[in-house]
Amino acid sequence: MRHVIVGASAAGLNAARTLESLDPQGEITILSAEEVFPYSKMSLPYLLSNKVKKRDYLFLPHPSKAKLLLGQRVVNIDVERKKVETAQNKTFSYDKLLIATGAEPYVPDMELEGSPLVLTVRNLSDMDKLKDKLNKSDVKRVILSGAGLVNSEIADALAELNIPGTFVIRSSRMLSQIVDEEGSEIIAERAIESGMELITGESITKVQEEGDHVNVFLSSGKVIQGSCVVVGKGVKPSIDFLEKTPIKCDTGILVNEYMETSVKDVYAAGDVTESIDLISDEYEIHALWPVAMEQARIAATNMAGYSWKYPKEVSRNIVNLFGEVVFTGGISKEDAYDVYKEKEGRSYHKILVRDGKLVGFIFVGGVLNPGVYLAAMKNQWDISHLLNEAIKGALSYSMFKAPTREVVNI
Ligand SMILES: Cc1cc2nc3c(=O)[nH]c(=O)nc-3n(C[C@H](O)[C@H](O)[C@H](O)COP(=O)(O)OP(=O)(O)OC[C@H]3O[C@@H](n4cnc5c(N)ncnc54)[C@H](O)[C@@H]3O)c2cc1C
Repeated sequence: MRHVIVGASAAGLNAARTLESLDPQGEITILSAEEVFPYSKMSLPYLLSNKVKKRDYLFLPHPSKAKLLLGQRVVNIDVERKKVETAQNKTFSYDKLLIATGAEPYVPDMELEGSPLVLTVRNLSDMDKLKDKLNKSDVKRVILSGAGLVNSEIADALAELNIPGTFVIRSSRMLSQIVDEEGSEIIAERAIESGMELITGESITKVQEEGDHVNVFLSSGKVIQGSCVVVGKGVKPSIDFLEKTPIKCDTGILVNEYMETSVKDVYAAGDVTESIDLISDEYEIHALWPVAMEQARIAATNMAGYSWKYPKEVSRNIVNLFGEVVFTGGISKEDAYDVYKEKEGRSYHKILVRDGKLVGFIFVGGVLNPGVYLAAMKNQWDISHLLNEAIKGALSYSMFKAPTREVVNI
C-alpha cells in the first residue's frame, strides 16, 4: 500500500508513526513544504525567550522508515488518477492520502497582508525574521496586533528579555477568544506589570518603514513606533491547493468520523480540518497540537484498513503568561448554563455546568490537576455532587468511578 502524507508536523509525523506500526509493508512518503526538519511550532516562543537555547532542540524525532521529502510543496491533487503534484514538478502516486497541511496565520487587514514590515509567527523562519528585526533595530519595542494566544506568548517571551511590547487590540481586552472579562483583567494587569502596553478599540491602518524601525498608524490617527509589527489574529487552514479538487471544505477540510474527506481514500487531520466539537456539537477548528496528533492516529489507523471512529474533541488551552497559569476549556468566555465563579485577588475560577456535566472552565492562577478537568469534560462525567471541589480547582481522578476515555495530554 502506498501512503502519501502532505505536511510534516504534529499530524503528519504521528500519522507516519502509526502507519509504520500498522502497515509495516506499506510505503510511506511525507511531503513537506518547509526546507527544515520538522520541529515543535508550539515551542517557538521559547526560542525567542532563550528558554530553548538552540533551534536544533526544537526538532522532532522523525519516523524511522517513512521517506521524508523536504521542500516539496503540493500544488494539486488529481483524485481520479490518485496523484499529488508539487511545485517542484514532482508527482507522487498514492493508494491512501493524508492531508496534514495545518494552518497559516490569518492577516485580516488587506493593507498589511504580505507587507515585509509585518511579521507573523507560525514557522521557524518567522522566528528567525523576528529575532533579526529585534537585533537590527534600535527601537526596542514590538507592536503586537491582536492579543490572542500566540501574540500573548510572544509578549511573555519579550518580557523575559526585558523588551517592551504594545498590544493594539480591536476589541476591548486580551485573550477575548478564550477568557471572559474577569479573566482578561487579571492577565492584562500582569502583562502591564511585565512591560506591556495595551491600546484597545484600535486597529492598525498603515505601517511605514523608517530607517531601522517602523511607524505604525492607528485608526484614531495616533502614530506609534516599534522595531516591527507582529500580527496574531488567529489562523486559517492551508487549503488553497485544494481549489481544483472536489474535496469539500468550509473554513477547513470537512471530515467524517473516520477522518476521511468527501473523496474516498483521502483523509485529513490536524489544524487543516474542521470536525464536530463535543460541547457545541458544531464544526470547529481546534488548532491544538494534541488534537492534531489524535486525529492523525485515527486517520492513519483507518488508512491502514482498520475502522476507528473519531470521538469528538473539546477546545482547551493551558499556558503560562506573565507568571500566571491560564487554563481554559470548552465554553469559557461566555456565561452559559449554570455558572459558578470564585475570584480572590489574582486567582479566578469559573466553571460552566450543563445537566450536571462540565462544559467549560477558566482557571487563572492555577489548578491542582488540569488533566482531570479535561477528562471530566471529554467523558461528560457527572460532577453535580462535586461542584465545591470543581470550583476550587481540586477535582481528582479518585473522585470518579466512571470509565475514562483516554486523555493523551493537554
Ligand atoms: C507560536 C505557537 C504556539 C502554539 N502553542 C500551542 C499550545 O500551547 N498548545 C497547543 O496545543 N497548540 C499550540 N500551537 C498550535 C500547534 O502548533 C498546532 O495545533 C499544530 O502545529 C498543528 O499541527 P498540524 O500538523 O496540523 O499542522 P502544522 O503544524 O501547521 O504543520 C503543517 C505543515 O504542513 C506544511 N504544508 C502546508 N501546506 C503544504 C503543502 N501544500 N505541501 C506540503 N506541505 C505543506 C507546512 O509548511 C507545515 O510544516 C501553537 C502554535 C504556534 C505557532
